[in-house]
Amino acid sequence: MTIEQLIYLFSPYLKADEKMLSDFKTYTDELLAWNKKTNITGITGEYEIYKNHFLDSLSILPLINPEGNLLDVGTGGGFPGLVLRIVCPNLKVTVMDSVAKKVVFLDHIIEKLKLTGAEAKWGRAEEFGRDPAFREQYDVVTARAVATMPVLAEFCLPFVKVGGLFIAQKGRDAKEIKNAEKVIEILGGKLEDIRKVKLPGDDSDRNIAVVRKIRNITQEYPRKPGIPEKRPIKAK
Ligand code: SAM
Repeated sequence: MTIEQLIYLFSPYLKADEKMLSDFKTYTDELLAWNKKTNITGITGEYEIYKNHFLDSLSILPLINPEGNLLDVGTGGGFPGLVLRIVCPNLKVTVMDSVAKKVVFLDHIIEKLKLTGAEAKWGRAEEFGRDPAFREQYDVVTARAVATMPVLAEFCLPFVKVGGLFIAQKGRDAKEIKNAEKVIEILGGKLEDIRKVKLPGDDSDRNIAVVRKIRNITQEYPRKPGIPEKRPIKAK
């Protein structure tokens, strides 16, 4: 199956043009080549990259305002942030990761694919989340496979504008999301929805947490680097 067919199966409303398709091909080639020298992603087959990285990233496309701005926290090889930018040329995307070599790869992809309006930042979410240039500046903040839900909420909600969305791509356990509802509220958010997603040719369930930012976050959060994981917020 080609990437074009896969995209059509998953997002029939999306018209994949030549530039997008060649961008996906180049992205795959670069990912496979870089992965031989340095660990960018655990997924190393071409078909798996299309399915588990590209298509899975596209599963949140219906939730995105393609004219707005988006921050992807713990993006690794650029998932979902750079994939969303490839299919939304007007989306302003910042992809962030704490591992320097991944950010070197992300800069390379942004340059190679000429992804205008995209930038990569090296550092920890807990530090950027206190920086006024980033704090409460984004319409949408995404994260896929980065941390447990209470930790992720503390990483991501500080960046979301009031009225904007935090979207977490999680695995099959919807309870993990539901159990974090109170913590999300402490951080100024409201759990709006848990969407179930199935990818074509894949039986596993994936859950997407859709969280609306309803009020400004308090000065306490995010706490210092490492603290959210060491002492996740507990709701009373
Ligand atoms: N989102 C990508 C994906 O779905 O393929 C990468 C997932 S990878 C399992 C988790 C990534 O989160 C790693 O690249 C790691 O460096 C990054 N990360 C973990 N904690 C972070 C933090 N506090 N701030 C920024 N990045 C972080």
